Amino acid sequence: SLSDRLQNIFSGLRGKGRLTEDDINSAMREIRMALLEADVNFKVVKQFTADTKQRCLEAEVLESLTPAQNVVKIVLDELTKLLGENDAKLNTSSRIPNVIMLVGLQGSGKTTAAAKLAYLLKGKGHVPLLVAGDVYRPAAADQLETLGGEIGVKVFRGDGKDPVQIAKDGVRYAIDNLRDVVIVDTAGRLHVDEQMMDEAAAIKEAVKPEEILMVVDAMTGQDVVNVASAFAEKVEFDGVIMSKMDGDARGGGALSLKQVTGKPIKFISAGEKPDSLEEFHPDRMAKRILGMGDVVSLIEQASKIQAEEIEEEQAERLARADINLNDFLEIRRQVNKMGGISKLLSAMPGGDKAMAEGNVDMKALDRMETVIYSMTAHEREHPEVLNASRRQRIAAGCGLTVQDVNQVMKQFNETRKMVKQMMRKQEQAMGNRASR
Ligand code: GDP
Ligand code: MG
Repeated sequence: SLSDRLQNIFSGLRGKGRLTEDDINSAMREIRMALLEADVNFKVVKQFTADTKQRCLEAEVLESLTPAQNVVKIVLDELTKLLGENDAKLNTSSRIPNVIMLVGLQGSGKTTAAAKLAYLLKGKGHVPLLVAGDVYRPAAADQLETLGGEIGVKVFRGDGKDPVQIAKDGVRYAIDNLRDVVIVDTAGRLHVDEQMMDEAAAIKEAVKPEEILMVVDAMTGQDVVNVASAFAEKVEFDGVIMSKMDGDARGGGALSLKQVTGKPIKFISAGEKPDSLEEFHPDRMAKRILGMGDVVSLIEQASKIQAEEIEEEQAERLARADINLNDFLEIRRQVNKMGGISKLLSAMPGGDKAMAEGNVDMKALDRMETVIYSMTAHEREHPEVLNASRRQRIAAGCGLTVQDVNQVMKQFNETRKMVKQMMRKQEQAMGNRASR
């Protein structure tokens, strides 16, 4: 993978101690190859390596005591820049409702993303309305309705015939029913075509969305850029949701998009479940690509806690490596969802297989959920209060034994220790730059 390739290049540099211009040149050649193989647009690669090389060749870098470390920092910096530098927020206005419209090719993940976005906004205290604007695929509105049902968000179907009218009526419905965000799902086609573009433009004209998000499938690779450029010309959009990041896309699309289209990635989606949409953070993604781990994103995702909140409360707790039972449960669920602990550990610096072994047992996960669900909110947040009598009460409450409860607590304590170690390694990997 791209991460492996880059890590190899860096460890080659570290092995050298002092670096010469030749060392930098050959490292840049290797980075260029690695990026091209990851399907990054060649113009982007060219610019990226030129900028990076220039910075690396500056005298202070080569003559510093830790040149290799400096090179890694520069690459991290440049990668972050490539991905968009700052977090891109949704555009909003004081109008109620705000309208968000999703566009993109058929199968890119629009309908799924619409529901996920509704779920994410609902989690932030909004009252969204989903509008079924795809009238061509017979089951499209049903699909949205099902997803809406799962997340408890109302789906507006209108007359099911005219997408422009449905969007307008949807906004009207939202006003009448006190919904503050309208998310309009639209139809896609297999290829960029006139009719699709015209329809998107007409809906845009009718409801004047605050935000138009283009959904692109990460698996599309290089072609992502062409599709996005075509859309950008016809239906000016504001940002991108990159879907299917859980597949084995090589990452090229994500790395090329901003540079080529000028549009930021605002969300990434990595799964079919409603909670698998994340706000996109360029710096975290860059670290992930460089194999520096991204514990914060993982746990944030796992805890379904949004960026602002984690920034403060949970990041603070994590900095003290002090997870509670809610974090624990979500970490374990995430492990389950991601198809095993090895993937979780590979996203963490210093995560190795030895730690993973003997730790995955699905029945144990069920038991763990049962036990933790039998605790009070206070107990979950403050595991230290779980004395013998509380443990007895919990065991009785869920029909298990005190040994089962103790077993869960033991696993919790191990995970807590593991997180602590990881956070320490992450800090070292970042040269003591606080891990946020
Ligand atoms: P649309 O035609 O653009 O509305 O695309 P859909 O939302 O119907 O998604 C097409 C398919 O991709 C469905 O089977 C979704 O379940 C799947 N899908 C969407 N987003 C993701 C994702 O992030 N990860 C994975 N694995 N599948 C996804
Ligand atoms: Mg759809």
